[in-house]
Amino acid sequence: MYRITLIPGDGTGPEITEAARRVLEATGVGFEWDIQNAGEDVYKEEGTPLPERVIESIKRNKVAIKGPITTPVGTGFRSVNVTLRQTLDLYSCVRPCKTYKGAKTRYEGIDLVIFRENTEDLYAGIEFQKDSEGAKAIIDTVRKISGRSIRQDSGISIKPISVFGTERIVRAAFEYARKNKRRKVTAVHKANIMKFSDGLFLEVAREVARRYPDIEFEDKIVDNMCMQLVQKPGLYDVLVLPNLYGDIVSDLAAGLVGGLGLAPGANIGDEYAVFEATHGSAPKYKGLNKVNPLAVILSGVMMLRHLGETEAADRLDNAIASVIEEGKDVTYDMKPDPDDPGAATTSGVADAIISRIT
Ligand code: NAD
Repeated sequence: MYRITLIPGDGTGPEITEAARRVLEATGVGFEWDIQNAGEDVYKEEGTPLPERVIESIKRNKVAIKGPITTPVGTGFRSVNVTLRQTLDLYSCVRPCKTYKGAKTRYEGIDLVIFRENTEDLYAGIEFQKDSEGAKAIIDTVRKISGRSIRQDSGISIKPISVFGTERIVRAAFEYARKNKRRKVTAVHKANIMKFSDGLFLEVAREVARRYPDIEFEDKIVDNMCMQLVQKPGLYDVLVLPNLYGDIVSDLAAGLVGGLGLAPGANIGDEYAVFEATHGSAPKYKGLNKVNPLAVILSGVMMLRHLGETEAADRLDNAIASVIEEGKDVTYDMKPDPDDPGAATTSGVADAIISRIT
């Protein structure tokens, strides 16, 4: 019996996580769900969208599955998702992008896994508003120490990339490659321009790669990588990227395999792991039993693998593949015509999968 923190989230989160809970239980693996609400409604009731009890629960259970959470604009608090990743030091964002037969996509045979660094780079949140004391101090300091001038009316975001942060994300990518019998890891960067941040990322990646002689290593400049992924996605296997490029390239890769409805994800650290779809809360569809639950269900497949339940994960993945291939019990976004009146509901997709789990 696994005790797992279940965060339904808001918007369409509760509907899709309920679908995921039902299919995960149908695999026969025993779960005890520690349900922890977070997000918009919780903010109204408890004054914070992410109460301490949610963090405590994940620390207790080590593993969580989560629905998306809306980041309200203009309320002054940071994204719950970013706070969770930082508080629990979930430094690897893992996003597999695999084509399923029958999914609406331009490509076949794609099987990529993206490792995005989750804690540093331009996402570290170290920013200085135009005309602020901080921005002025940085402009002065840069002038003094390098003789370079930054325009006075600039806003500034800092891009820290460390040996520590790079070493652990590249190691995570190689460990994954070894464990899952992957052939190649590609480090993606812009080291030709940002020599001391991306250059360091590349240097550390090369050093880590030497410890894994059984796995091929190469590096690619991020702009070239984007073109290559569109032209020859089959050439790539595991990609490891700093935070910003990882964010952008993982959406590009999700687009290659059929869109956000099919893009699962995991945020993993040394102690805790939180599994969630790549997409957001799609609030306009809230309560309609309409959106695609497959991304969060596929995140559940990743969770089963993380728990060591490989056989149950394979059975669930096969049931999902069979539903997609048949193309009948899929939601509107996966139908050739999105207005198809025969599109399945969120709960209908879960029922179809459950009926096929062997
Ligand atoms: P979104 O992913 O919620 O929705 C964008 C569009 O994608 C939707 O309008 C819908 O057409 C489609 N879509 C998304 N999920 C779908 C699904 N399961 N099935 C079918 N179609 C789907 O992105 P957004 O509108 O930019 O963000 C809405 C809110 O979600 C924002 O507040 C954002 O901050 C938040 N968000 C949360 C997370 C997270 O919790 N990890 C991630 C991204 C965005």
